[in-house]
This record gives sequence, structure tokens and C-alpha cells, in this order.
Amino acid sequence: ALRGHRHWPQALPDVSPSERYDVVIVGAGGHGLAAAYYLARKHGITNVAVIDKGWLGGGNVARNTTIVRSNYFHPARRAFTEHALKLWEGLSQELNYNVMFSQRGIINLAHSSGQIDELARRGNAMSVSGVVTELLSVEQIRERVPLLDTSPDARFPIKGGMIQHRAGTARHDAVAWGYARAAAKLGVHIIQNCEVTGIARSNGKVVGVETSRGKIGAARVALAAAGGSSRLAEMVGLRLPLENHLLQACVTEPVKPVLDSVVTHGVHNFYISQTDKGELVLGGDLDGYNNSTSVGDLPPLEAMVRTCLTLFPSLGQLRLMRSWGGVVDMSMDGSPILSKTSVDGLYINAGWCYGGFKATPAAGDVLAELIATDRTPELAKPFTLDRFASGRVVAEEGHGPRPW
Ligand code: FAD
Repeated sequence: ALRGHRHWPQALPDVSPSERYDVVIVGAGGHGLAAAYYLARKHGITNVAVIDKGWLGGGNVARNTTIVRSNYFHPARRAFTEHALKLWEGLSQELNYNVMFSQRGIINLAHSSGQIDELARRGNAMSVSGVVTELLSVEQIRERVPLLDTSPDARFPIKGGMIQHRAGTARHDAVAWGYARAAAKLGVHIIQNCEVTGIARSNGKVVGVETSRGKIGAARVALAAAGGSSRLAEMVGLRLPLENHLLQACVTEPVKPVLDSVVTHGVHNFYISQTDKGELVLGGDLDGYNNSTSVGDLPPLEAMVRTCLTLFPSLGQLRLMRSWGGVVDMSMDGSPILSKTSVDGLYINAGWCYGGFKATPAAGDVLAELIATDRTPELAKPFTLDRFASGRVVAEEGHGPRPW
């Protein structure tokens, strides 16, 4: 059956590193590839390499549960993710690649009247800035998600919820490949299996990177390496306020369409959606201790399944098909770092915790502007590295559900 695919053109040229680039981006995840694309498309900077120690899209960009939303309480997080959401809405056309962005809506469940008040407060804050959301009664939730146990004697009775209709999911590999192909068409080099082992400096300024495939010169270097960020920053003596943790997810065997929204629990860290193939995707909490490997423990998976069955008892017949993990770079305030550094010509995009997929197009767009202009773009101003010294942190915690 595969014979018919033999003559397909290669999506990306297989390039070897050149001696020198204007910009080197470390990390061929969603953020690094998107930044390279916008550098070329919007700023005309095409002498760019995106370098990855593994394969294109082998990191969190293709390990995440693909939730895209902008329903944040904190104005800075909301503005950033809303910019991203607007870019998501035109991304398949922009890249000429179907990223399967599906605006199926995200429903945050509330299990107490206090939580309903909190949702109303967040919804009002969103509405003030033009991001539409709607509170749902239990009856409306039942109608929209009939499989949910909405009975009053459920383990965590549902009292109501909130929906952001424009939120949804996307196909993660397609996002990586879409940006990669579009960037490569504009002249960007995407170099796989090339680990950055050092960052070369001269007179306090970046001059390139040392890699497992030799030295590569660069006038500017950007780190977009998610779980690899701390180790890379240490190469220039920078200690980032980040910890590596493992986040796991799992999928069931595929079934016919049974769930056409993303649903999040209001008590435990748990959320669920259904892929276009029919698998139910379950996400939950961090493993709870520092970890830089992608091998996880069973208890977080058991907790996910337990919560799933309290909400959707009828899914108990399904078999789990597989689980996996990704190393997430957790920042101390739960918000990202998008910033210049103390090293001239070195920029950092990190600390996206468990919520960076939704930001991918905006993170790329803003990082590209930062690199191209050497000035902090408006949307990045709240997220500079110096906020941890000044105490001007951007903490969404306490204002809503966890930031997947
Ligand atoms: P990555 O794809 O991880 O890219 C970083 C790249 O850097 C990697 O490919 C790595 O190989 C490379 N690298 C690292 N060190 C080096 C080095 N020394 N040299 C060269 N290359 C290097 N976010 C959401 O918004 N919604 C969700 O539903 C969601 N769910 C998640 C579920 C799970 C299980 C996980 C693990 C994460 C989830 N996230 C979610 C978070 C999201 O996936 C990340 O925040 C985001 O993907 C990080 O950006 P990235 O795509 O650029 O990272």
C-alpha cells in the first residue's frame, strides 16, 4: 500500500550546517520553528538555522494534549494567548498546511457556588477585553456533554461551568511540520540530530554555538528549548528560575464521536478531549518531583483515569492504548520567560510550563520580533527575565484552572 507514496517530494531539504548564520535558534519545537518562519516572512531575515539535538517535533510540541485557549484571568496571559488564538484561526491558510485547528470549545466545570463566582469573575474580566465566554447551567452542560455524570449524587456534583467557544484543539505534528516546511521554503535551514553543547562568546557578545556537528557562527542566538533551557542557559553562566518536571498524558482506544468539546475538571487537574481519530485524550498533573527524562510513574496516570471515571463512568469499558511524557520547564510564577539576557545577542523563550502549545504562533511571532529588532515587543514586556528580581511576577494561579 505504501508503494504509491514512493515518489512524493521530500517535505524538507536535508541540509548540513553552514559555517555562519545571522540567527541560530536552538530547538526545533513549535516555538523555535514558528520564530524562524516569522523571522523570514515578516522581517526578511532568512539566513537562519533551527538546530535540534533530536528530530523535528520530537519534543513537547508533539507530546502535548493540544489544548488551545485564551481564557486567562491575568491580562498579560490573556493578551498573549488571544494574539495566538487569532493566529491559530488563520494558520492552516498561512502555512498552506492543514493544522486541523478545531474550535470545539473548552468547558471548565465548577463544583461549588464559590467556583461559579470565580468563573463569572474570570469571564467578566475576559469580556471586558473583548474575549467572549459564556457561563453554562448544569442543564446546558448536560445537553452539550451527555456522557458527563451530572447527577446530584456524583462524587463531585457539577454546579455549572464556563465555555470559551473559540478554544479547541489542533494537530500537533502538523503544526511542527507546517512551520518547518514553510520556513524551509523561505530559506531557513532546519538541522536535526545536532546537539548544542556550548554557546560561544567574545567580549560579552554571542558569536555562535558549539554543537555535536562542529562550531556554527551566529550574530544572534535564541534558545527555544523547553526542557533543555536551564542546561543551555548554564552554558553562559545564567541560572534560570525553572525546574524540569515530567507531565504525562494517555489515550484510549478509538471510538465513534462521543465528546465534541474539551472538558476540564474543577477539583483535580484533569481534562479530556476526543481526537479526530476517535481516541479520548486524558491529561492530568505533573509527576511531582524534578525529572528530566521522559519516563513517568504510574500514580499520575491512575489519578487521571480515576477522575475520568468519576466524570464519565461510561468510559470505564474503554482500554487505554498508550501513555507518554514530556519534560516541561516549570517557571516559579507559572508564566513564560520571553526575554533578552545579560549576554548581548542571546535571547530566551522558556518556562512555558504545561501551557506552551496554545501560545506557539504568538511565541514564534513575538520571539522573531525580539530577535529582529533587539527590542522587547509589547506583548513580551510582562515576561522578561528581570521580573523575578523585581518581584513583578505574572501569577495566574488562584485565578482559574491549571494552565494547560
Ligand atoms: P519542544 O517541542 O520541547 O521543543 C524544544 C526542542 O529543543 C526539543 O525538540 C529539544 O530536542 C530541543 N533541545 C533541547 N536542548 C537542546 C540542545 N542542547 N541542543 C539542541 N536542541 C535542544 N500546552 C498547551 O498549550 N496545551 C496543552 O494541552 C498542553 N498539554 C501538554 C501535555 C503534555 C503531556 C506535555 C508534556 C506538555 C503539554 N503542553 C501543553 C505544553 C507544551 O507542549 C509546551 O509548553 C510547548 O510544546 C513547548 O514549546 P516547544 O514546542 O517549542 O517545545
